[in-house]
Amino acid sequence: MISVSEAEALIAEHMPARGSERVALARAAGRILRQPVRAETDLPPFDRVTMDGIAIRCSDPLPEHFTVAGEQMAGMAPGAAAPKDAGDCIVVATGAVLPVGCDSVIPVERTRREGDQVRLEPGYRPERGQFVHARGSDCVAGQEVLQPGVRLGPAQMAQLASHGYGQVEVAATPSIAFVGTGDELLAPEAPLREGSIRRSNDTAVAAALSLHGFDDLEVRHVADDPAAAGDLLGQLLDTRDVLILSGGVSMGQRDFVPGVLESLGVRCIFHRIAQRPGKPMWFGTGPRRQAVFALPGNPVSSLVCAVRYVRPALLEAQGMRPAPVVHACLKQPLTPHPQLARFVPVRLDHGLDGRSLAEPVPTNTSGDFTAIAHTDGFVQLAPGSTEVPAGSSLPLYGW
Ligand code: AMP
Ligand code: MG
Repeated sequence: MISVSEAEALIAEHMPARGSERVALARAAGRILRQPVRAETDLPPFDRVTMDGIAIRCSDPLPEHFTVAGEQMAGMAPGAAAPKDAGDCIVVATGAVLPVGCDSVIPVERTRREGDQVRLEPGYRPERGQFVHARGSDCVAGQEVLQPGVRLGPAQMAQLASHGYGQVEVAATPSIAFVGTGDELLAPEAPLREGSIRRSNDTAVAAALSLHGFDDLEVRHVADDPAAAGDLLGQLLDTRDVLILSGGVSMGQRDFVPGVLESLGVRCIFHRIAQRPGKPMWFGTGPRRQAVFALPGNPVSSLVCAVRYVRPALLEAQGMRPAPVVHACLKQPLTPHPQLARFVPVRLDHGLDGRSLAEPVPTNTSGDFTAIAHTDGFVQLAPGSTEVPAGSSLPLYGW
């Protein structure tokens, strides 16, 4: 049996990198950037006025009052108005080009205007350069302002827009199929039947993926029938980049999934990881290098494995720069398993010192979905023989 980190490394080694595609800016939010983004111009592209008021040239002493010699409003071409001497001022608006010959702006609330004369508030002393956002002080033309591998959130989208990227190169989204297995599993809308439960892994795993941008996802279900499963998986291997299965990977008589996959030419990379829950997880690659994840059917196991392995692998294959693993401090001690890594669902809280605190939430079994609905994710506890005390910092994976 391999360790959690060996499983991660094997998946990363066998996941084919995704290609990229150009999309309109309006469709790019949430996608992974695959090109460097360069500044189109200096930003700001001119010395930008940051207050409504008057622009002047600072001198010592300052004149008693200024004479309005014109206006420079936002959007006017540079040079709309200029002072003739130190006694002149130009009326300006936020966002305007600083008038030629001026170096400072005095906010309107510090002035009193009578006709074309402007007096400053008694005793007001402006500083040279005040309320001017200097050209190129944010970035200069040609500078790399975004690097490939970032997820495009609001701030990155603003960068793209402000540098004239109407289209942008982002990672292509993989085409994914989820296949649940089990005779006992009913759809949410089907009438209940004795001896059956409703299936939920498809819905949970689809949510874990679609909330991170993986929305090209087809959900299917098959009975515990190797022939029917073989037909469906064969079709999906022809059309999809990634297959995620749930159930049928343990040691029971009905655990036919690994055999069916191997008969379809999917090569097993590993089966079983030294972890709880989720020990029976299986991973392989198809004839076209499709990634095939077969997750255990227990609902907590399947969601833990999807969040711990599948989602990060899909993101990495898209070229997303790996984020540092978040940690949280245990609120209560935890007992490790001597040989298996433990994934323990936790509720998050924040200490007065700003630390994230993780309160373990016990589940009845790895099938207990009721308890995990009130958790934020899980911590990973390495195998060991001594209790891990409260206050210890552990890697945290959010649902
Ligand atoms: P298996 O891995 O197929 O042996 O399934 C383990 C347990 O998880 C069984 O009790 C199944 O009924 C349950 N299970 C399997 N798949 C699902 C699913 N999609 N939704 C909810 N429970 C499931
Ligand atoms: Mg089953």
